[in-house]
Amino acid sequence: MAIFDELVSANQDFAERFDKGDLPMPPARQVAVLTCMDARLHPESFLGLRVGDAHVIRNAGGRASDDAIRSLVISQRLLSTKEVVVIHHTDCGMLTFSNDDLVAKIRADLGADATRIDFLPFSDLEQSVFDDVESLRRSELIPDDIPITGAIYDVKTGRVLEVIRK
Ligand code: ZN
Repeated sequence: MAIFDELVSANQDFAERFDKGDLPMPPARQVAVLTCMDARLHPESFLGLRVGDAHVIRNAGGRASDDAIRSLVISQRLLSTKEVVVIHHTDCGMLTFSNDDLVAKIRADLGADATRIDFLPFSDLEQSVFDDVESLRRSELIPDDIPITGAIYDVKTGRVLEVIRK
């Protein structure tokens, strides 16, 4: 709980200065960003997003998983976002293991069988962006007129480089 206590303490300072309590629910910039949970990525900072501007959907790798698509559908159908940006990044942890590696570690650490889970690791960063943009583009749950852009964030320079626009 020690870390939670630090977080709550920081939150008290935050709440004292907080003045964004009246924003509408739909994102003002009408965009959803799908990106990795990596702690070095602060998408709101590196994309110039302010509170209320965008949906930022994060998971391990920023992958277009079923759950990411679930969030995008809610974002688009119920909250009026009209564009998707997929951002993977250099030095991603998803480049460092295979499904077999992680299944073996889970078996060793926890005694659990995770063979039926695809953890969606990848070995080629650029290809992973192509693959996720392509699978979103092919999804019948995402309309054809929603622009989807794929990009890579460089953790060394802070720059975002476009990979594909579909
Ligand atoms: Zn990552």
